[in-house]
Amino acid sequence: MFRVGLGRDLHCLVSGRKFLLGGVEIPFEKGELGHSDGDLLCHAVTDALLGAAGLGDIGELYPDSDPAWKDADSLELLKKTWQRVKAQGWQLVNLDCIVICEKPKILPYRETICRSLAKALEADESRVFVKGKTNEGLGPLGRGEAVEALVVCLLEKEE
Ligand SMILES: [Zn+2]
Repeated sequence: MFRVGLGRDLHCLVSGRKFLLGGVEIPFEKGELGHSDGDLLCHAVTDALLGAAGLGDIGELYPDSDPAWKDADSLELLKKTWQRVKAQGWQLVNLDCIVICEKPKILPYRETICRSLAKALEADESRVFVKGKTNEGLGPLGRGEAVEALVVCLLEKEE
């Protein structure tokens, strides 16, 4: 049995915050605003996995209103989520991610980000791919006020 999952997240970019993608800190003048550490790529991956496994969504499992998740390490949430998904018998076939922002360039960090996500999901690096896109200068993404992540994953289970 195969199941596909889709995840999407967007965070505002502000000064005085770390810019984290998939658990990797990227040197930049701004970072993601958020109740947690703001790592939107981890959030989108978490939602994609939960969606594919039919286990709910990130807002239900780790609500913003819960002080337990204040400044939470999103990579840890992702690892925890993967353990839940794996416990249902699912294996990761692949994960494909897009990060949309004008700056910084994602390419120099791509391998490190893929490795970090693959490690969190106990998967081979070849199963995880991350690409960066700009928004051609349009809208809040184009003005560097926000960053967006889109993720699709495929899970497989023996029936
Ligand atoms: Zn988020």
